[in-house]
Amino acid sequence: MKKSYIWLDGTIVPSELATISVMTHTLHYGTGAFEGIRCYATPKGPAIFRLSDHVERLLQSFSCFGVACPYSKNIIEQAIVDTIRINNARDCYIRPIIFFGSESLLLSPKNLSVHCAIIIINMDKYLGKEAIKVGISSVKRISPESMPVHNKINGYYVNSIFAYHEVKNRGFDEALLLDHDGNISEGSVANIFFVIDGKLKTPDIKSILPGITRASIIAIASKLGIEVCEQSLTIYDINKATEAFFTGTASEITPIKSIDNKKFSHSPGCITQKIQMIYHSVTNGTDTDFASWLYFI
Ligand code: PMP
Repeated sequence: MKKSYIWLDGTIVPSELATISVMTHTLHYGTGAFEGIRCYATPKGPAIFRLSDHVERLLQSFSCFGVACPYSKNIIEQAIVDTIRINNARDCYIRPIIFFGSESLLLSPKNLSVHCAIIIINMDKYLGKEAIKVGISSVKRISPESMPVHNKINGYYVNSIFAYHEVKNRGFDEALLLDHDGNISEGSVANIFFVIDGKLKTPDIKSILPGITRASIIAIASKLGIEVCEQSLTIYDINKATEAFFTGTASEITPIKSIDNKKFSHSPGCITQKIQMIYHSVTNGTDTDFASWLYFI
């Protein structure tokens, strides 16, 4: 297997040396923040998609613990670039994580050291190449009244894993979670869009992680002259939809062929295809309108 390198607290080390203590606070309580970022191979070299926005969200997510992160946005961005270079990676998935140290297992992390690691992995199409079958999970998305849901916090992903397992066991490919008011929220690791009456409709940000891909799709749709509505949506809206797709860094734009018993006659449908085409041309470096989203290495 190819040797891989990890950035850990300012030093790039072979992955087998990037080890931490079993006393790590984040291991016990899920107290950390992380990101998923993609880098794409383009004719002009590897390019990271929306690097600045991802690192900003990483630091913003971590800030909810009220503890300063010793690594600035510039340091983390440069570290990501350096880690991609040393791994000689092109098309890859980048996983930065900010986590607490192992000085104490008391609940509050306020007096603990703060660490950062950057891991590079290969990732092809996360949800496969075909349109997927989605099941509405009985597991509800964590409530904004319990957690700052806009942050990407490690511990939240137990909620995603439970929802995913529950629908997988019923034969679906991916979960759609409802919020505690019964409105549509999002997938286990992706936001959702519907095409209803020729418009794109997506849940408002109340109970979701406001995805960077979601924001990109909204910008692309407006360039295409497609109206986008961010609003409360219920399962009754699913029946009105003619197309649906998930968006996310790992999932990119994944067409949905059915949600529970509702089948979409075309997946990808025509609007999904148009958006997929532009998204693809942005990430392969041929689109000029959104060229500023790529950070070339
Ligand atoms: N929702 C959740 C719960 C996620 O984990 C992700 C993946 N980060 C998304 C939505 C999509 O976010 P993004 O487009 O920024 O990757």
